[in-house]
Amino acid sequence: MRYSKLLIPTLKENPSEAEAISHKLMVRAGFVRQLAAGLYIYLPLGWRVIEKINRIIRQEMNTIGAQELSMPILHPAEIWQETGRWNEIGDEMFRLKDRGGRDMCLGMTHEEIVTWLASKEIRSYRELPQIWYQIQTKLRDEARPKSGVLRTREFIMKDSYSFDIDDDGLERSYRLHEGAYRNIFSRCGLKFYMVESDPGMMGGGMSHEFMAPSPAGEDEIALCDNCGYGANLEIAGSIPGIPQFPSCPQDPSERFEEVETPEKRTIEEVTSYLNLNPELFIKSIMVIGDDGPVLALVRGDQTLHEKKLKKIIGNFRSAHRDEVKELLGVEAGFIGPMGHKIRKVADNSLKQGVYVSGANKEGYHIKGVKPERDFKAEYSDIHIAKEWEGCPSCGKPLKVEKAIEVGNIFKLGTKYSIPLKANYLDEKGEEIPIVMGSYGIGPARIAASAIEQNHDENGIIWPASISPFDVHILPLNTKDPKTIEVAERLYGNLKTEGIEVLIDDRDERAGIKFKDADLIGIPYQIVIGEKNLKEGMVEVKDRRSRNVKKFKIEDLSAIISLCRT
Ligand code: ATP
Ligand code: MG
Repeated sequence: MRYSKLLIPTLKENPSEAEAISHKLMVRAGFVRQLAAGLYIYLPLGWRVIEKINRIIRQEMNTIGAQELSMPILHPAEIWQETGRWNEIGDEMFRLKDRGGRDMCLGMTHEEIVTWLASKEIRSYRELPQIWYQIQTKLRDEARPKSGVLRTREFIMKDSYSFDIDDDGLERSYRLHEGAYRNIFSRCGLKFYMVESDPGMMGGGMSHEFMAPSPAGEDEIALCDNCGYGANLEIAGSIPGIPQFPSCPQDPSERFEEVETPEKRTIEEVTSYLNLNPELFIKSIMVIGDDGPVLALVRGDQTLHEKKLKKIIGNFRSAHRDEVKELLGVEAGFIGPMGHKIRKVADNSLKQGVYVSGANKEGYHIKGVKPERDFKAEYSDIHIAKEWEGCPSCGKPLKVEKAIEVGNIFKLGTKYSIPLKANYLDEKGEEIPIVMGSYGIGPARIAASAIEQNHDENGIIWPASISPFDVHILPLNTKDPKTIEVAERLYGNLKTEGIEVLIDDRDERAGIKFKDADLIGIPYQIVIGEKNLKEGMVEVKDRRSRNVKKFKIEDLSAIISLCRT
């Protein structure tokens, strides 16, 4: 296509509001424009990228036998009420009424609708298994739409759903998706990990996320290079290291020693005041659960993992200052696990060692606290896993990376088929709920992750498979007839060969063309300059390595084979 005819509004400066590199570059290179918070317009180049990603997704989904269909974006409330999610989901769901006053919503996902369809159309075990997918718009009133197209309020998702007679069937469908997803993300040129994840509002059993490592990611994942363990920090386990106890009494006979810590409340204040490492402290956090107050205990260097605690004590909230005062007679900052009967849940790491804790007395801490001897607690993993802690499956050090969730797979089981009565008749004629899985991919997140992982100071470096074009022809002097003649000939010949070509036919300075070409990031640039033409040559620049190779103008096949690698 011709640059002069395309809408490619490149910008000299980064948009001021953008933080993520992919956000800056997609705007600057003329791929997207923001309409309003979390709403983006894809310009021609941006849309070509999305379409290429969608093509790869379709091919891989079709390969595992999935069938493409399309479901509405506008949903009647009743179906969402039947599964309970109408009430469970809060402000993230866009709700509206139709002219007849009926409640409706905009689909944030399609489990309800697809299960309704299965309940109507699937009768017998003979019709199973099935996998259905669509590439369809989703709407979510995200609390913090940000980072460009990484988190928007309207976005495209490839969502697929599997229907099986039993758990073994579901396991097969799940693994088919795993394989398809690995192919999709590899073919899109992404570095990615598949990690264990928290099923969250989807419910059901096992789930995994596909994570593209990037500093722009909102998720953090724990990874083990030794055994391959990987999990979102939302659920990652870890074996904490055992701290050395230099100046704390190790000897059990050496009982507590109260130390004055006037006005020193936070771990930072107390550790620096007593000149002890944070690992030597017990952090006591008072929360109020449905069954009353609970003291959560973690080591001073650890952060309480609220989701892990929730699994043990159910829903809870932080205790207010006056609640703490009323229960323990002291302000938060000096509270500790001893001398009261409040339920205590302690991190596993506290089973060993001797610590400093709050003294439940204004202005005091206690040294020499030995859990189990000095107080009883329930022990569990309730801290957020950290880099260098032991891998929960092999014990070797974990690393923690930021990552973008580009896709996920869930085993739903019968969570949706039971309320929506999606049953099949088995061989004996008995009605059995269909066993389901749900699988999502965000094409926009793939595009943005590809930029996060592939760029330099001059712009984007597209993986060839999802680049808006394969080759960018740069005739430097459009006033020179020979330049134009060669450029047009190459353009025509490459197109005939099925190569997607962008030709910069603008009457612009060479410097501007080079800058825009690097910014847009097509993997190969064919530079047609007068000097080389005199020798019958053109230059082909590899956008990533910046290597330049000269080719004879006639040597089209060599140029093509280079561009196809
Ligand atoms: P997140 O935790 O990042 O909000 P999610 O768990 O809500 O993601 P799903 O509901 O499972 O995501 O959606 C499947 C896929 O859709 C995600 O893996 C992601 O690629 C994409 N996606 C989800 N929310 C958004 C969004 N707001 N903007 C763009 N893509 C999204
Ligand atoms: Mg979400």
